[in-house]
Amino acid sequence: MQKFNSVEELVNTVQPVDPVYCIRPNSIKSACSWFKSHFPGNILYAVKTNPNERVIKYIAESGIEKFDVASINEIKLIQKNFPKSRLYYMNTVKSREHIKESYFNYNVRDFAFDTKDELQKIIEATNNAKDLNLFVRVSISNEHAEIDLSQKFGALPSEALGLLRLAKAHASKIGLSFHVGSQCMHPISYSKGIKELGNIIKKTKIMPDFINVGGGFPSVYPDLNPQPLENYISEIKKTFNNLKLEKKPELMCEPGRALVAESGSSIVRVVLRKKQKLYINDGTYGSLFDAGVPSFVLPTKMIPSGRVTSKKLTSYSLYGPTCDSIDYMKGPFVLPNNLKEGDYLEIGQLGAYSLTFRTKFNGFYSDQIFEVNDKPIMSMYNKDILSSYLVA
Ligand SMILES: *Cc1c(COP(=O)(O)O)cnc(C)c1O
Repeated sequence: MQKFNSVEELVNTVQPVDPVYCIRPNSIKSACSWFKSHFPGNILYAVKTNPNERVIKYIAESGIEKFDVASINEIKLIQKNFPKSRLYYMNTVKSREHIKESYFNYNVRDFAFDTKDELQKIIEATNNAKDLNLFVRVSISNEHAEIDLSQKFGALPSEALGLLRLAKAHASKIGLSFHVGSQCMHPISYSKGIKELGNIIKKTKIMPDFINVGGGFPSVYPDLNPQPLENYISEIKKTFNNLKLEKKPELMCEPGRALVAESGSSIVRVVLRKKQKLYINDGTYGSLFDAGVPSFVLPTKMIPSGRVTSKKLTSYSLYGPTCDSIDYMKGPFVLPNNLKEGDYLEIGQLGAYSLTFRTKFNGFYSDQIFEVNDKPIMSMYNKDILSSYLVA
């Protein structure tokens, strides 16, 4: 893979007609090392967030070698790249065939479930295996998250009591888990989740081996500026210690977005300007899904390529290349007011849930991916470059 010192160098060298994607290894490394030095337990990378082979390589090289996987293909991908890593099959809805294949062919021992039927499936598909680690996923409020997962996954706390008892009877080790929802904007969600697990432990008098606080750790976007990640960790530590359990379970987390969001960006080109509407060569069927219906505002800058940029800024909306009207990104994207056809833009904060969402709809698809060494447009881990793109 070609590497560049900066996006400017990339644009001036390649002059790409189609969108190109940037991976910043340094951003991945600093996010991983931040988590490793702050989170008091095991860290699993949620592979769905960005399964690019370069990205998972940098994650593993940073010392995170446990992976939260949700499908047999994610299992195969990780197994092929890191045969010694531990895989946690945390999707609570799996086919019998995939459970069987994961257990017998890929050595998966950790499974999550949120119903009796799924537990039954796991037991049968593994031939009554005695070496399973079973995680009961509990549904908790996702009120502070930008993306709510609580309606789709998790047992109600009242149902979790019975599930934990059943799991205890079949498992080698047991865990309790939850997910606060993605891009969780308040640390209190984690303490509410841990307290809920504490109630389940008290009622069942079953001591879990693992408490898994899931993903949801936020990144920063122009209009979503969360508290420092330190606050999330201290909230988790405080509530966990307050459970006052005689035998401490092992803590686990499954960050996705927080490890990779700021490591990725897209370089797009203006194909046509209609007043404040910029028609660009990538869109919601490409790497910009999150800027579409979920309406994330993304930090955007013009990449100078031999043309004088106006100091005056204006707000644009972006339109993707396909013929579908939902291929539209409301923004606002704040950029120089003299943009025109041929100009290059960098759209940041696209390391999570972006590359992996690209489709070939309408014949638009680009797979040009480069590494760059400059700083990301925004960062949770480097406060110096945090502020300038924030919406007041
Ligand atoms: C998606 C997912 C994650 C990662 O979530 P982020 O919000 O990206 O941190 C973690 N665990 C499970 C089970 C998931 O489905």
